[in-house]
Order: sequence, then C-alpha cells, then structure tokens
Amino acid sequence: MADTTTIFGSMVFNDATMREKLPKDVYKTLKKTIQIGRTLDPNIAGAVAHAMKEWAIEKGATHFTHWFQPLTGVTAEKHDSFISPTSDGHVILEFSGKELIKGEPDASSFPSGGLRATFEARGYTAWDPTSYAFIKDNTLCIPCAFYSYGGEALDKKTPLLRSMEAINTQALRVLRLFGNTTVRRVLTTVGAEQEYFLIDKSLFDSRKDLIYCGRTLFGARAPKGQEMDDHYFGAIKPRVKAFMNELNEELWKLGILAKTEHNEAAPAQHELAPIYTTTNIAVDHNQITMEVMKKIAERHGMVCLLHEKPFAGVNGSGKHNNWSLSTDTGDNLLDPGKTPFENAQFLLFLCAVIKAVDEYQDLLRVSVASPGNDHRLGAHEAPPAIISIFLGDELEAILDAIENGSTYAGAEKLKMEIGVHVLPNIPKDTTDRNRTSPFAFTGNKFEFRMPGSALSIAGPNTVLNTIVAESLRQFAERLEEADDFTAAINGLIRETIQKHRRIIFNGDGYSAEWEAEAKRRGLLNLRSTVDAAEAFRAKKNIRLFTTHGVLTETELQSRYEILLESYNKVINIEALTMLDMVKKDVLPAVSGYTAELARNWKEKEGFGNRLEYEMLCRLTPLADEMYIRLTRLEEAVAESGEQGDAANTARHMHDAVLAAMESLREVLDELESNLSAQHWPYASYGAMLFRI
Ligand code: ADP
Ligand code: MG
Repeated sequence: MADTTTIFGSMVFNDATMREKLPKDVYKTLKKTIQIGRTLDPNIAGAVAHAMKEWAIEKGATHFTHWFQPLTGVTAEKHDSFISPTSDGHVILEFSGKELIKGEPDASSFPSGGLRATFEARGYTAWDPTSYAFIKDNTLCIPCAFYSYGGEALDKKTPLLRSMEAINTQALRVLRLFGNTTVRRVLTTVGAEQEYFLIDKSLFDSRKDLIYCGRTLFGARAPKGQEMDDHYFGAIKPRVKAFMNELNEELWKLGILAKTEHNEAAPAQHELAPIYTTTNIAVDHNQITMEVMKKIAERHGMVCLLHEKPFAGVNGSGKHNNWSLSTDTGDNLLDPGKTPFENAQFLLFLCAVIKAVDEYQDLLRVSVASPGNDHRLGAHEAPPAIISIFLGDELEAILDAIENGSTYAGAEKLKMEIGVHVLPNIPKDTTDRNRTSPFAFTGNKFEFRMPGSALSIAGPNTVLNTIVAESLRQFAERLEEADDFTAAINGLIRETIQKHRRIIFNGDGYSAEWEAEAKRRGLLNLRSTVDAAEAFRAKKNIRLFTTHGVLTETELQSRYEILLESYNKVINIEALTMLDMVKKDVLPAVSGYTAELARNWKEKEGFGNRLEYEMLCRLTPLADEMYIRLTRLEEAVAESGEQGDAANTARHMHDAVLAAMESLREVLDELESNLSAQHWPYASYGAMLFRI
C-alpha cells in the first residue's frame, strides 16, 4: 500500500492543489467564495475550469460530470468527455468556465413531486464550490446543487446549504450578544458512522429479494443469531479485513477521513466512522462512502448491504449522525467551557437544541422516515420511533438545579446562577453510555441515532440546522431587547428547561415503560413513514422552513409527495418480489418435497413406517396455509391500485400489503425450517450471516 499521507486527498482538487495550480488572484477570490459559502464569481470560472481540467487529465481523467443528489437519495451523474472537435478532424480537450458553473442534465426522470411540469423537464446543476471537485473512475466529479427552471430545489444539497446559512446567521447573532466580534462564521459539523452488512456475492445472487429489494423478505432464523455478542468488536476476518484495507485506501484518495472500523453487534455487520467535517462535505462524503463500499465489496466477491433491515431477528443498520456547531475560530459551541461565561453560552446553545428537538419531533422523525427504516425504529434494537434527548446524569442534575433555582450538589458550595459560577467539568466518557437514546448528548456533540443506513444524511441535517436556527432566532430576539443581559439569559435558560423538560429522558429507550411514559408526557410516537409524512404539511413546519428560507411551501409539498410515492413503490416491489419467489420457487419446492415424502412413504408401505407420514401431516397444512396467505397478498396488491391519492395508497400499503407479507412470511419461515436443505430454493440465514 502506498504511503497514506501521500495518497490522502490525491484525487481531490483541494485547497493545496488549488493553491498550486491556480493563479494567485484567482486562488484568493475562490478561497473567499468558499469561506463565505457563496456561488462562484463567473469572472474566474474559466481559469478555475482550466486548472481543474489540466489537473484531472494528469490524473487520468477523460470525462467530467456534474455530481448531484436528486431526491432519490442516491447520487446522480451524467458523464461528458472533455473532447471537442477541431476543424481539421482532430480533437482537443476542453472544459470551460461555463461547463464548470452550470449544467443542464435532462432531468425528466428524477422525482420532482410535481415541481417540474413535463413541458419543462429541464433541471439545472450548479457547482457548490464549498465541496471540492474529485476524480472517481476517471471522471472529474463536480459536486453540484440541482434545481428547476423556476429555481426550486430538486435535490438534497440545496436546502442543506440554505439551512447552514440559516444557522450561521442566527448563531452569529447570539455570539455577538455575548460580545464576540471575532467569529465570522458558524458551521455545523457532522461525523456519520456508517453500518453495513457484507455477504457472499454468490449467496446474494441466489436471492431475488436481495437483488430487487436489498433485504430478505423471509428466511428462517439460524440456530445462532447475535445472542452471544461474540461479533461486536471481535477479530475481523481476513476477507473482510482485505475489503476494509482497500476501502480505506480508496476513501483516503478521495479525501475522506475514514478513521475507525469494527465489527458490529450482528454477525456479518460492520461499521465505518470518519472523522467529522463541515456538514455539507460530510454529506457528500457519506454518499461517496456508500458508493465506494458497494464497489469494493464486489471486487472481493461480496455484496455490501446498506438496507436498514436485511435480516429479521438480527440488528438492523443505522447511521449515527454526530452533530455539533463550531466557529471559524475553532470553538465547539456545544463544548461546556471552563469559565462561567463560556458555560452560560454553552447552556444557551444546549437549550436551543433541547427546545428545537421538542418542538420539532415530527420533523426529525420524518427526516429519517423510509420503508427500510420503519423495520428498525422501535424494533427493540434501534432507537424507538419516539424522539427524546439523553443528556447524562450530570448534565441533567445541572439542569434540574437551574430549573428549581437550587444548588447543584456537584458544584459544591456554589449557587447555580448562570453567568456567575463555574459549572463542574462535564466528563465526556460518562455521557456516551446510553445506546438506546435516539438523540444523545455525547460530551461536545449530539448523536442522532435514528437515521437509517441507506439514507442520505442531508435531510436530517437540514432539519437539525433549521430547527436549531429557529430556537436561536427566538433567543436572540429576546436577548437583544433585554436591559440586563445576565438576568435575561438566566430566565431564558430556566424557562426553556421548564417548558421542554419532557423531551429529556435518560432511561432505557427500548422498554415498554418508556412508551407508556412518553405517551403521558405527550411525546409523539410516529411508528411508520405513513404516520410521519404529514409533518411536511404541518403549518408550523411550513412557517419554520419559509422563515429561514430553507424550503418553500411548494418544495415541502414536493418532498411529501416524493416520500409517499417512493414508499408505495418500494412496498409494491417488495410484494411483487415475494409473490414471484413463492410462486416460482417456494411452491414447487414444497410440492416437490411433499411428493417425494409421499412416494417414499408409499414405497415403504407395510413396514410400519411413520416418518414420512408424520412429516406430511406437518407440511400439508402449512402448504395449504401458504397458499391461502399468498392469495391474500395477491388481493391486497391488486387493491392497491384503487386507493386514490398517494397518502391513501400508502396507508393501504402499510396496513394491508405489508401486513399480508408479514403473515405470509410466518408460514414461509415455518416451512423453511421443516424442509430439506436440498429442496429449499434459497440461501439460508445461517449461510449468509456466518460464512464470510
Ligand atoms: P463513539 O461514538 O464510537 O464513541 P466518538 O464519540 O469518538 O466515537 O465519535 C463518533 C463520531 O463523532 C466520529 O465520526 C467523530 O468524528 C464524530 N465527532 C467528534 N466530534 C465531533 C464534532 N464536534 N462534530 C461532529 N462530529 C463529531
Ligand atoms: Mg457513536
């Protein structure tokens, strides 16, 4: 392997490369653009494009693409080669400033949720200069935003960038009130831990459900699951290790800070964590990471499953979104400080998050809603579908003391008055032990654990940035009017804690008691995507997004429609796949096996033979039941076309189709455990999970 420090970022047109390749004044202008997060000055585009092209060709690139993130949740690219014909029949390699700044991919096949009328199928891509261009598969990729003719966002990056602007504006307002005049920009930072499964490619290919749906639709449990906990942090198998080594190298070349890797709780499950970075870059990097994982796995004869719940009975996969706020001067605003002043500021930012999460539980929930993640949230392995915040005992005790105006025991003889006394240092390692919380404070950041493994984290971070921006906006408004700043802060913090206390929960989020308790507290429990989707249309949420210029009402409506439409498509594909598998493979297998049993029984007639007879008695009613449930699923699928709008269809998909699939699955799993391995047409859970 090449030296890590030399390969790191070697495929990225990063700051160092820009400085080296660009004329000084161009570099300076571009750098400023990046720092303040603006669009590119057209006057320098030509020079930047030229340098980029020269660099890319040197690295072997032949094509360029505007790389963007449509609402499908995966990335899109359309490749154009650099070649341009000359009059004498030759070609030259060209890449103009215009081509760098703006692209016009034919966008008619990307979901727009009604934003783009069919007569205006054009969508435009525009370079996001805050995310570096990079080379992937001999193609220069230019990270872009994607929008319609009318300027509406057709992608996940545009609102994310707008939300970063919103929180920057409001956080700066608050910092100025604290007398801070040096900070010029507040950024949110994200480190996304990515979970995934690796299974053998030949086993993957044997299952249509994995091929079409990314998850097994049925499959009897293996005798062993994850109950021994012997996989978590266990020794990494050589084949997996080889995969991880190559993955790391590939990611490093792309400037992605892949840092830790380990086995996860379920067999065949692993995790990769990068070092955190600015949110929009972290989002881009996570999208690339998922893509590279899949590609490298294939090279090792494996398939990387990013589905949230590939196998029933073992843990699903998530994506822990570690989120914090930091200044361009390097301060983490969620880091409890050492001085009373820093502490007051920390508590105010902490309160902004608490208030935001409580007031916009529905938005956080919908930001992670997908048919795949529905199998995970609330399934006693992942955080529940109920949003709550874990703060840790120490911090909660401090907030208690503030709320009651009493003395915090740990602060010794100091009376808790914000802005006056030193808070105790909050030990970081005691705050990260609650694995059941969907939203946990972990010392100097929050870890949002609900996002699913396949999800783009653009959505959740857009929501997080915007809702916290709103809290900060309200705080700033109050504080700007206050005569006595210290008293105002004091009151604001106390009031926020009192009002939003209910969202804080330090106990076991998986327990049934919590569900009951959360209900008493009036917290939302939106169990499925169908329940969560309405959040996109709630008045308060429209007001929020429009106030901060993050999404218009039309853009929100389009997201609502796309979510439901894609939900309906996914469930429909799953149901059709299941029907296909059962009719084409399982039914003949069961029929063949029972026929064989019957023949054997007949042949041994007169020998007092009971074995085949007993097996037949067991299998025949199961086979009949399978047929009955199969027919029910067929009916439910047929009815799905008659439900009217997307919302009603989604309700039917959830209540009737998914339910019929679950019920059919029960019999199938029972049949699988009773059929001979030779007859069962699909790779078993045991083989898929334990034979890498
Ligand atoms: P773990 O959660 O496994 O105990 P860590 O807490 O060290 O591990 O970090 C988990 C993730 O959080 C990593 O991706 C790390 O880079 C990220 N992280 C650490 N600090 C911040 C921060 N200030 N903002 C965003 N992410 C952060
Ligand atoms: Mg973690």
